[in-house]
Amino acid sequence: MSRIAYVNGSYVPHAEAGVHVEDRGYQFGDGVYEVCEVRGGHMVDERRHMARLVRSLGELRIRLPMSLAALGVVLRQTIARNRVRDGLVYLQVTRGVARRDHYFPDAATPPSLVVTARAIDPAKGEAVAGQGIAVITVPDNRWERVDIKTIGLLPNVLAKEAAKQAGAREAWFVDAAGHVTEGGSTNAWIVTPEGRLVTRPAESGILRGITRTVMLEVAEKLQLRVEERPFTVAEALAAREAFVTSATNFATPVVRIDGRDIGDGRPGPVARALRENFHRVAEIAR
Ligand code: PLP
Repeated sequence: MSRIAYVNGSYVPHAEAGVHVEDRGYQFGDGVYEVCEVRGGHMVDERRHMARLVRSLGELRIRLPMSLAALGVVLRQTIARNRVRDGLVYLQVTRGVARRDHYFPDAATPPSLVVTARAIDPAKGEAVAGQGIAVITVPDNRWERVDIKTIGLLPNVLAKEAAKQAGAREAWFVDAAGHVTEGGSTNAWIVTPEGRLVTRPAESGILRGITRTVMLEVAEKLQLRVEERPFTVAEALAAREAFVTSATNFATPVVRIDGRDIGDGRPGPVARALRENFHRVAEIAR
């Protein structure tokens, strides 16, 4: 079955889907995106992802291309037309097409909207989580507005590629004070030797991950002790467990950081419990 993409009002074969060369996303990375997990054909945490989209757009003064209700229809259509049961739906909104000029285009310029969806074999994610992943640490060289889910992801791309070259799967950014901020496409967590769950506050230095928000609720339900505070690389290396969260990873254990084993070098019970309970707390809108 061939894939279908939604591009500015039309559903088109994925292989032919394209935007104009003067789309500001292409020219300047002037846009934002969201990724929602699809489970059993339904979006997970759509409401929260749409709220974050509205916030990201507001911070950049880009208009929502259509009502949230209409956007919900497009997302569902794209999922259905690609027959995705388990996987993800991706949406991107840019400031639209205009002659290349740094200044914002005329206010009447319609924003561009692209939506794609694809299936992911859940067994593959489970296998990765069962093994755990390795991460490397890299200096956080990103701009200050990482709270906006912008499509300008070059530092993240370079960091994740560096991780891959080092035989790892994720890179953890480290700020000037030596604190871990987040992963290239995930939020970072540790479990201290005393059993406390630690993750950086979302007020600065990270994207407020939707999975992170839901996991905090899961942790509360599991009666885990949580500390939202920055943690150092040294603390992570001495942790009992470490893991990452994102819409497509849920909670995935980290078993090595910079080549050193975390805990006994195997996935731990806290990450496992959070992963297992995630979908009991996440919202599935039908
Ligand atoms: N941090 C960064 C930099 C990300 O790119 C992502 C997801 O893409 C996350 C965190 C996790 O966010 P979410 O849980 O909403 O997928």
